[in-house]
Formats: sequence, C-alpha cells, structure tokens
Amino acid sequence: MPKNYMIGNWKMNQTSEEITSFFSDLKLENNQNNFWIAPQTLHIDKCLALASTTGVLIGSQNCSDQDHGAFTGEVSTDTLMEMGAHFTLVGHSERRAYFQESDAFINSKVAKAIEKGLVPVLCVGETLEEREADKTFDIVLGQVKSGLDSIELNNEAELIVAYEPVWAIGTGKTASPEQAEEVHSKVRDLLVELYGETGKDISILYGGSVKPNNVKELLEKTNINGGLVGGASIKAESFSELCAACSL
Ligand code: PEP
Repeated sequence: MPKNYMIGNWKMNQTSEEITSFFSDLKLENNQNNFWIAPQTLHIDKCLALASTTGVLIGSQNCSDQDHGAFTGEVSTDTLMEMGAHFTLVGHSERRAYFQESDAFINSKVAKAIEKGLVPVLCVGETLEEREADKTFDIVLGQVKSGLDSIELNNEAELIVAYEPVWAIGTGKTASPEQAEEVHSKVRDLLVELYGETGKDISILYGGSVKPNNVKELLEKTNINGGLVGGASIKAESFSELCAACSL
C-alpha cells in the first residue's frame, strides 16, 4: 500500500517571524514522518530546528543536477543533505514555465537527488490548453516517463510523484476527485510498467488548490495518496487540518 503524505510547498512566502508562529501553532496527531514542508531555501535551517519536535520533515523546492562548482544561485544536493533536508521538489510547473526547465534537465535532477539520498517529488501536470486539446494523458505520462528515464529504484520510498494540473494551481479550481483519479490511475499503471511491484507502492500525490474543505473526497480515491499543497499549507491551522485528513 502506498503511504499517504501531506507536503506543503511554501514557494517564495513566509517571513522568519511567520515561520516561528507556524511551528508553535501547528497541531499534528498521528505523525508517521509523512508531513513534509518545503520552505524557501534560506529558511531550511530554521525550519529544521523548529520542526525537530514536531516530526515534520523539511525539504527543498528545487535542487541542482550538478555536484558543485561555478553554478551561481543553484541549490546543492550535498549541502541539502548536510543540513538535514529529507526531500526536494523537482519539476514544479512554476519551474518548468518560468525557468524553462526541460524534461531532460528534470530527469537529471531526479537522478542527482536519488544518488545523494534525497527523495525527489517529481511534479507533472498539463496546462488548460493541453487538457482542452485532449492531450492530458500524453503530457502527464510523457513527463513521468521522461522524468524517470533510466532511473532505477531500490524501493518505493525513494520517489514520490505529484500530479498537479497547471490550471488548478493557485487558481481555486480543483480537479474533481474523478478527474484526478482518472490521471492518477494511468500514472499508477505506468509506474507498475516501469518498476513492477515497487510501482504499486509509490505514492502519487494530487496538487492544485487542495484545501481542508475538499481534501477528504480527493483522498478517498484509490490512487490519490496525499496532497502537495501551496496556499493552504502556509497557515498552521489549515495545514494541521490537511494533515489530520491525511491520517484518517
Ligand atoms: C503548488 O504550488 O504545488 C500548489 C498545488 O499550489 P496551490 O495549493 O496553492 O494550488
């Protein structure tokens, strides 16, 4: 059975003071190391210190595909590991759209993260135009295939996939549970094709305007194994509610 996760993507938000309040207001029950947060890189250290008593694991929103060297502004996987980060998002649609990250580049980041011991959360999803042109499956499955090209796994805990329809991110428009499950089940089939039994246990998260009031019905679907959440992960109260729903 895939494990259920709730992952908060704070993007370029949260002041240092807001982070302190977040962790002091957070109320988590039944934490199985499955509640994760990706703050801004500069706040990872602070979050690691504050999260240590909560069991929340901390990760990065991005990482470099290179070990070290002249790559100004990049985020090194070795340094993330040294700090105590647990995971990294890879290929978020905002990185694909605003920073022109290609499938091949994303694939090399997935490989680097796994090589160094970080769990990559591979983000995939179609735009509205692609959905309207009936290309959803081609795009999403193509992104999963390319992102995982030549990636070998020893177990299901080394990778998470997040399906995030671009039209649902930060727009308040959530995919219906049925729309999401339709895509998740195709992603599941592909993961089984690529990784056999291990593919059955890889968690596939849904992202795109997940909120406390719609999370339960999404999580009821067989192949939706948690959420990757932007807006609703920023406040301790709503993130706590999302985590509670994830534990049911
Ligand atoms: C995201 O950024 O991954 C996301 C899903 O954002 P939101 O929950 O705000 O739509």
